Amino acid sequence: RDAADAENDTDFSKAYTLDHRAELGTGAFSKVLKGAKRMPDGSSGLAVAVKCISKTAELKAEDIASLQEEVAVLRSIDHPNIIKLYDFFEEKKMYYMVIELMEGGELFERIVKKTFYNEKEARDLIRILLDALAYLHHRNIVHRDLKPENLLLKSPYNDFDIKLADFGFAKQVNGKSLDTQCGTPGYVAPEILKGTKYGSEVDMWSCGVIVYILLGGYPPFHDDNHAILYRKIKAADYTFEPQYWEQVSDDAKDLIRKMLVVNPDSRLTADQALRHPWFLVGDHELISRN
Ligand code: ADP
Ligand code: MG
Repeated sequence: RDAADAENDTDFSKAYTLDHRAELGTGAFSKVLKGAKRMPDGSSGLAVAVKCISKTAELKAEDIASLQEEVAVLRSIDHPNIIKLYDFFEEKKMYYMVIELMEGGELFERIVKKTFYNEKEARDLIRILLDALAYLHHRNIVHRDLKPENLLLKSPYNDFDIKLADFGFAKQVNGKSLDTQCGTPGYVAPEILKGTKYGSEVDMWSCGVIVYILLGGYPPFHDDNHAILYRKIKAADYTFEPQYWEQVSDDAKDLIRKMLVVNPDSRLTADQALRHPWFLVGDHELISRN
């Protein structure tokens, strides 16, 4: 039981308390709970999120290796729009990752609630995401699991203060040197499905899928049958359904078209995407409003 360690006098339980009733999320091996720093006088300090991973039989050596990579990557980076890792503990039965608390939940939930983001809103969000990606890619880090479930909002009252989370698949790379099949079906890049060596370009594909979802309100690639879905992705077989895309600017569609490119060498990089006219339009709008 995960409470067993907490009851004992472990390093984690000396430093933090856990609220077992406040579950923030779950993953394959993890449960994310709300917690707080223990203050010397016994009171609660900073509220945090704690990703708790049980050392069960299902947790394989490769899972432990990727957990260690997740911690190493998070420790090596410092960006305002990437989740901060405050602490990490390994104990007899558990691992604990103490992370910056994001009280606004997943961007995924926010999209469902709003149906879609208007163009100005989407632009603000994507600029932040691209900024974080440019930061990671300059450091040769690939996230590999970009999707709205892994973009967390700081507050329930603000739709834009987002941070990139879940570095469970993140990897330090040199060029195109990865070959593991991973990611989430609707967001996965064609080169991963084709089984060729790949690099940071896979994040830009997933980012293209996110831009499409934010503006269209539905995913570009969808099929209940995975074989059909993967065939569509490998051919970049998607359309802008007129009933949903009529109101959207040509610049926005052009950016999506340049991100959802099958050949990773022709796909926009994060730096190039940030210089796309869609982002410059924002400045014009700002100037003309003044
Ligand atoms: P997994 O690798 O198992 O997907 P995540 O790191 O994505 O684990 O965490 C799973 C879920 O837990 C997230 O989608 C989110 O809903 C919630 N969560 C994770 N980290 C935080 C955090 N720092 N603050 C609030 N909720 C979080
Ligand atoms: Mg996740």
